[in-house]
Amino acid sequence: MPRTTDSPQLVWFRDDLRTADHPALTAALSAGPTIAVYIFDEQSPGLRAVGGAARWWLHHALLDLHESLSQLGVPLILRSGPGSATVAAVAEQSNARGIHWMRRYGEAEREVDTLAKQQLQGAGREAHSYAGALLHEPWQLQTQEGNSYKVFTPFYNKLRDLELRPVLPAPEAQDVVRCDLDSEDLESWHLLPTSPDWSGGLAQRWTPGETEAQARLQEVVESIAAGYPEHHDRPDLDGTSALSPALRWGHLSPHQVWEALGRHAASSPGASEGAAAVQRQLAWRDFCWHLLYHHPSLPIKNLRAEFDGFDWSWPEQDQQTAAHVRAWQRGETGFRLVDAGMQQLWQTGWMHNRVRMVTASLLVKNLGVHWSVGEQWFWDTLVDADLASNSANWQWVAGSGADAAPYFRVFNPELQAKKFDPQGSYAARFAPVAHEPIVDLKESRTQALESYDHMKARQKG
Ligand code: FAD
Repeated sequence: MPRTTDSPQLVWFRDDLRTADHPALTAALSAGPTIAVYIFDEQSPGLRAVGGAARWWLHHALLDLHESLSQLGVPLILRSGPGSATVAAVAEQSNARGIHWMRRYGEAEREVDTLAKQQLQGAGREAHSYAGALLHEPWQLQTQEGNSYKVFTPFYNKLRDLELRPVLPAPEAQDVVRCDLDSEDLESWHLLPTSPDWSGGLAQRWTPGETEAQARLQEVVESIAAGYPEHHDRPDLDGTSALSPALRWGHLSPHQVWEALGRHAASSPGASEGAAAVQRQLAWRDFCWHLLYHHPSLPIKNLRAEFDGFDWSWPEQDQQTAAHVRAWQRGETGFRLVDAGMQQLWQTGWMHNRVRMVTASLLVKNLGVHWSVGEQWFWDTLVDADLASNSANWQWVAGSGADAAPYFRVFNPELQAKKFDPQGSYAARFAPVAHEPIVDLKESRTQALESYDHMKARQKG
């Protein structure tokens, strides 16, 4: 018989759409009968609107979360509106005693959460925030001088010195709580594309949610990780974890991934090199969030101010750049690896890391387009679009970021294809039609290096 409770615990879900290893949910359930809310927030100032492919993911992930929570006896309420006022309203309507959530690290998100805390506490409620999205809190890693890190290797060395919190077991079901609060209809948020519906390729490639993410983690640990050091740079081999959307949406915590890899390595001889290599990549994700936390303008401003003086092209400013950007977006640049990558992105909402670097380099270096143009396209088309990882990596490729590739490192897409897609099978799969190259690689490389020299000369002068 469902119980009705008039002062439940309330869990506010955001980028943490899972039930296992969820410190906020576990704490709420141990404090008493629990209900949950997800708020679709397109109104709080400064929040980036969720991109198209990510909206598709979110819709399906919420269905999966709804299912997992109902198995735990936890009702999930859906609301839309500004996060702080909406959570305060749900707390008021349910007379929630304690409100629990996992921390977010973007500046605008932190402002929403601070405001929410103030409003809830002002109304005499308890608000609790928990760590869980990152291996370590961004402020926990400091250089000897007490500064934040800008270079990955020392950051990683420090990270490995810190102890990880243990992974929490999946919570036990509570007696079902009846909840009479209004919940919006997910369909009314229009997260799925309709005219046209371009999501067929996404649905073929992915099953969003915790259930599938757990299964994939098992596969990664048992069969992908061992080959990772050798295969991770080969887009033709599917040799990486493909866990980035699960991590972006919090279907898995990085702790669960780290711990599962570590456990497997400890029990099977020969697995440790692969496991350590994937763990190292996982630390890049933490590093990107560390950068974003300490430099909140990372998504919109060059981290290295000298790049403010670079002569970038913008599609709004000239027709040729607009045509170049369109060809790049459609995978019609004439460079097969780039075109395959852009098609993989368009069709499946994901692109292999090596190809992300090569496609980004072509846009920024050979076509001279500002990195933010590419960053925004990726934001809209990736199912794993993540504010920190996307902007930090775009700036890395552009040379304007922390620990960035030096500007003069211009990837040659033809050489990259020979090396990393040697049989051309990746190109054949995603870019079966060959196009005329839209730019001369040698000339544009020289031009890029000249622009860089001008920028430096202007600075000195
Ligand atoms: P694996 O190689 O299996 O790595 C395991 C996990 O480590 C990944 O799932 C991811 O969470 C993390 N990781 C690996 N490489 C990186 C990296 N360079 N930076 C940060 N985290 C990393 N990753 C995103 O999650 N979201 C983005 O929006 C995003 N945008 C990118 C844009 C550009 C221009 C580039 C060059 C890279 C971008 N990346 C982004 C990083 C990287 O390409 C993806 O994380 C990776 O391709 C995901 O595939 P995987 O899960 O198989 O990775």
